[in-house]
Amino acid sequence: MEEVGTGLLDRLDALQRVAASAPGGPLLIVAGPGTGKTRTLTHRIAYLCAELDVYPEECLAITFTRRAAEELRERLEVLLGPVTEAVTVSTFHALGLSILRENAEAVGLTPQFRIAEEADLLAALAPLSEREARKALLDPAMQETLAKALRARDLASLDELLTLTVQLLSESPALVDRYRARWQWIFVDEYQDVDPVQYELLRLLCPPGGNLCAIGDPDQAIYSFRGAEVSFFLRFTTDFSTPEVDARVVRLTRNYRSSAPILAAAVQAIAPTTLVPGRRLDPARLDLEAPMVGLYPAGSVADEADFVVRTVDELVGGLSHRSHDGRVDSRATVGAMSFADIAVLYRTDSQAGPIVDALSRAGIPVQKRSHDRLLDRPGVAAIARELRFAAGLGGSIAARVRLAGQVVAGRCGQLDSDVLGLSEADVWNAVDLMTPLALRAGSDLDEFLGALATGAEVDGWDSRADRVTLLTLHASKGLEFPVVFLVGCEDGLLPLRAFAGARQSEDDVAEERRLFFVGLTRAQDRLFISHSRTRFRHGSEREMPPTPFLSAIDPGLLERRGAAAPRKPKDRQLRLI
Ligand code: ATP
Ligand code: MG
Repeated sequence: MEEVGTGLLDRLDALQRVAASAPGGPLLIVAGPGTGKTRTLTHRIAYLCAELDVYPEECLAITFTRRAAEELRERLEVLLGPVTEAVTVSTFHALGLSILRENAEAVGLTPQFRIAEEADLLAALAPLSEREARKALLDPAMQETLAKALRARDLASLDELLTLTVQLLSESPALVDRYRARWQWIFVDEYQDVDPVQYELLRLLCPPGGNLCAIGDPDQAIYSFRGAEVSFFLRFTTDFSTPEVDARVVRLTRNYRSSAPILAAAVQAIAPTTLVPGRRLDPARLDLEAPMVGLYPAGSVADEADFVVRTVDELVGGLSHRSHDGRVDSRATVGAMSFADIAVLYRTDSQAGPIVDALSRAGIPVQKRSHDRLLDRPGVAAIARELRFAAGLGGSIAARVRLAGQVVAGRCGQLDSDVLGLSEADVWNAVDLMTPLALRAGSDLDEFLGALATGAEVDGWDSRADRVTLLTLHASKGLEFPVVFLVGCEDGLLPLRAFAGARQSEDDVAEERRLFFVGLTRAQDRLFISHSRTRFRHGSEREMPPTPFLSAIDPGLLERRGAAAPRKPKDRQLRLI
């Protein structure tokens, strides 16, 4: 029975409520996937602001991607309403950028400084040839020279947004005091993926004993290849407790996301190398009719793609009901899934091609959700530079992007070093890619350029579009879908090996297993695992054994899916309608 009168916390279970309403001080929420960590986080912020005397201005919520920040803000808005505006919800990079802008002079920049693009980095190292400069960029001994050259041009590199911020704060106790007074309540989702610089920044922004709420799951740590260290998570209570204030730890144990068979399979899959031995993860969903996890051993990559098409087709209810724009006829959706419920997850981006092709050929609408930076696409940086020159212009950002595109396109073919190598098609493609972000920025040029610089994504992924979503396992973190296909579950691909016979440490394989675990636990109702007997890898067609991670799962939880029945001619005709 729910308690009456807890208002905002009514929609939380008892443990979640303990976490959301905990008093100030360091708080670690550690729990498995789907246990409502992110839900508890938003409710905690809302509760503190609405029921206690915390000002929204004092709250800083930090995430790792811009999209996660946007989604957190949206969830918060539902609970808190318009005052959400006053809460700072930011990525680590955007946080660094805003602190640096406020204190630019102290690190040798002007408040208008720009974030260096690749061309700037190479130019900063001239007179080195491009090849030498590229090598130098990776050489630690060159970093100081590079930093000087960038500062002289009023530039900071993306990495420096955090290192310069840490340097700035380390050198100025007065500034530290100022920011600590501003953000008295700090929240970090996915804390298991914090890297050393981000950790330093948090230490500076939050004193031991302070109101830092860290949330995460060590078993979902998947960014050690980028320098993240799960040890920061494991050390949290030692790091932030003081003799007066002990860090509080809340463990959530009920998984609300996945059906019981999916959850059982996931728990077994992670067990061999779990970083939280003995933890509980109980299904809140005890539907006895829940289907087992589907397993499809495909003969080839094409066969695997065909399996995805066929199964999507079954779940959504037949191709013949579908109209051209991907909207589904209401007859088809009664009691069935819609495309937006379905996600296809893979280890590497290169796996998307065959699946996208097969789905598109069958008339199934798709959209990719990626982490690729918009700024890295041809033409985008050139247009951004042009926009900056025309900063005095008025009008919507989208209109200005188009204008800047015209200017840049006009220069294509000329020997202008900025646009050398760009075709007009690149430029217009860049304009199209930039437009959705421009529309969101409205008329705020700084916001637009800041979003670009701090890693706005390349895709126009839209949560409301009725399309099948394709994404990498890394990009799937924190998300959930009623139906998940996890494709390419083969030894060498998941776990990924850089080249045939490459040696892998136990840690590397454990991280790949965590990635597998992340993938399995995105599924709510249906999960399909597939692997292909052969795949083109490392320059040739290879035999691919299934991933060894599968052997940890009780075969009783897996239901082998059949191969395609030979198509009858009639069937074929139907498909062409
Ligand atoms: P991940 O580790 O994958 O990020 P998470 O722990 O952050 O997962 P959430 O995304 O917050 O989990 O929640 C998972 C799902 O369970 C969501 O759909 C959420 O709305 C639902 N949920 C969480 N708590 C409850 C609850 N007390 N009652 C009903 N549904 C809940
Ligand atoms: Mg979450």
